[in-house]
Amino acid sequence: MSNSSSTRIPVVAECVLNHVEKRITESENKQLLDEELLSLHSVFGAVLERALDILEKHPTFVAYTTTNKTRTLIEIQGENDRCYRVFPRINYCPCRSFKHQVLERKAQVLCKHVLAARIAQILGRTADHEVTQDQYLMLLRSMFNTDEHNG
Ligand SMILES: [Zn+2]
Repeated sequence: MSNSSSTRIPVVAECVLNHVEKRITESENKQLLDEELLSLHSVFGAVLERALDILEKHPTFVAYTTTNKTRTLIEIQGENDRCYRVFPRINYCPCRSFKHQVLERKAQVLCKHVLAARIAQILGRTADHEVTQDQYLMLLRSMFNTDEHNG
């Protein structure tokens, strides 16, 4: 598959996440194990800590899903009552850190929101919220509008 690298979670990172996901799907223990936290930390570093922090504060994330289940957006509460919406498994977030740290400086492979959303999905901590196609499009639009308030 030819895909631009910016919209994909890097292979190593995706591999660790898939590994954790597989283990959790197959096991009774739905919590992250210490060794899983370690390997996630070795890949994501401080971003993991920030993602876990969000998960700590917000036990479940709303996943807006269209009635026909073809589209989903996961909502993550950010700081200052802001919320960010990301696509499941797509490495894109409208936040500033994504723009600066991930796209421009390539200092991080993803932002805390994308990682928190992925971990929430793995742990089954998303609550489905059914929306119509129109509502979905509105959510999508507002997701990009947040950027305008940035500066
Ligand atoms: Zn973000």
